[in-house]
Amino acid sequence: MEDWFFTEEQRMFRESLREYLQHHFSLEVIEHIEEKREIPKAIIEAMAEFELFCPMVSEDYGGAGFDLVTAGIVGEELARVDPTGSTCVYYLVPASWSRIIDLYGTEEAKQELLPKMTKGEIFCGIASTEADTGSDLGNMITTIKPDGDGYVVNGAKNYISGVREASTLGGGHVTLARQDLDAGVRGCTLFYLPLTADGIEISQDREMGREGMSTGGFRIDNVKIPKHYLIGEENKGFYIIHEGYEAARGIIACVCAGAALKALENAVAYMKERKTFGQPLARYQGMQFPLAEHWSKMMMVRDWGYKALRIMDQEKQGKATRFESSQSIAMAKLWAPLWAFDAINFSMQVQGAYGYSLECTEQKALRAVRSFGWAEGTSEVMRLIIAREVLGGTAWKGY
Ligand SMILES: Cc1cc2nc3c(=O)[nH]c(=O)nc-3n(C[C@H](O)[C@H](O)[C@H](O)COP(=O)(O)OP(=O)(O)OC[C@H]3O[C@@H](n4cnc5c(N)ncnc54)[C@H](O)[C@@H]3O)c2cc1C
Repeated sequence: MEDWFFTEEQRMFRESLREYLQHHFSLEVIEHIEEKREIPKAIIEAMAEFELFCPMVSEDYGGAGFDLVTAGIVGEELARVDPTGSTCVYYLVPASWSRIIDLYGTEEAKQELLPKMTKGEIFCGIASTEADTGSDLGNMITTIKPDGDGYVVNGAKNYISGVREASTLGGGHVTLARQDLDAGVRGCTLFYLPLTADGIEISQDREMGREGMSTGGFRIDNVKIPKHYLIGEENKGFYIIHEGYEAARGIIACVCAGAALKALENAVAYMKERKTFGQPLARYQGMQFPLAEHWSKMMMVRDWGYKALRIMDQEKQGKATRFESSQSIAMAKLWAPLWAFDAINFSMQVQGAYGYSLECTEQKALRAVRSFGWAEGTSEVMRLIIAREVLGGTAWKGY
């Protein structure tokens, strides 16, 4: 089937990427990720060779200058070969947040950080969540204050992807902190925080999936950062961070589509092969109807994810508005993890008792996609955004 939303170049890119990833990912790679709780070095090198790190960064700083649709393709294809979702996260977090440094960082920071990020030599994460506040960013406790020729940061962040990667490999997190303490979210500043700095102490959590990627927290004790690590203007961080979240949310929709459609393809293969009461499972309408429903839903998510990313690309060219992109991205990110979870769960059910074994690919994917009901903005926050846009009368024309 033709993917109407891809250009010829994007179609060719997808084909060559799929072939490349299938060649590099094997059962041994997935076992390594799960057992050693890390992504094998050979896979990181293979990703770097295909320019999959931070590919939206402009060519001036070593990136591939991808648009968001092409960035979504990478997410979808990685999800098809890595059911643990680890490489998807290792890809999508740095991709989305290096883009923010490229768009809003200072020239000095871009020259210092982006060439290393695009080679996969250092990690780039995002840190807004804290132990006592995630969705309600205006109440965070981490603060940033001007100090001499730079800033001083104090506080703590929790449930952050890539803390181990950024502190061992090197790199840091695009971080949000309060500067004007009386202004709520309108007083938040965005900046780059190296996790190798003096005064940072990291801790790691055990998560239910995505084993190859770390999640954890870090304390920030009087950490000094230079002025050139500021991203955008002081007290304007809340507005910029949403642009990063929206890119990540759109890619997540493609990741969920890739993971769920692959799980459904596995279900189809099993349904054709496995016989009960003298017939292949595929012959029973009791199997066909849910398959048809999950397949349609995931194809809709996929179409909508790419459409939303395309609207974001158009927004950058002045051809779409912020409201259009916010709403369409939120709609894709709302349904992608919820429907992907159901579709993958169906695939597990089809495979009988094997579906519940740790060997079954689908239970790995189920645990991975579940994370996207929270990460980069919860399902409830997506509903709030959609309702705000619809009720606010900014609902778009022509749809
Ligand atoms: C695997 C994983 C990786 C993550 N990685 C990162 C990361 O790299 N960087 C980072 O900054 N954060 C990260 N997070 C944190 C994530 O962004 C937060 O979990 C999310 O923003 C929600 O914050 P919270 O957990 O504090 O929940 P809360 O904001 O406390 O909300 C609790 C529940 O209430 C709901 N809720 C809140 N307000 C409302 C409302 N007004 N109406 C209705 N429902 C509401 C929420 O949707 C949620 O279900 C990660 C989370 C996970 C699970």
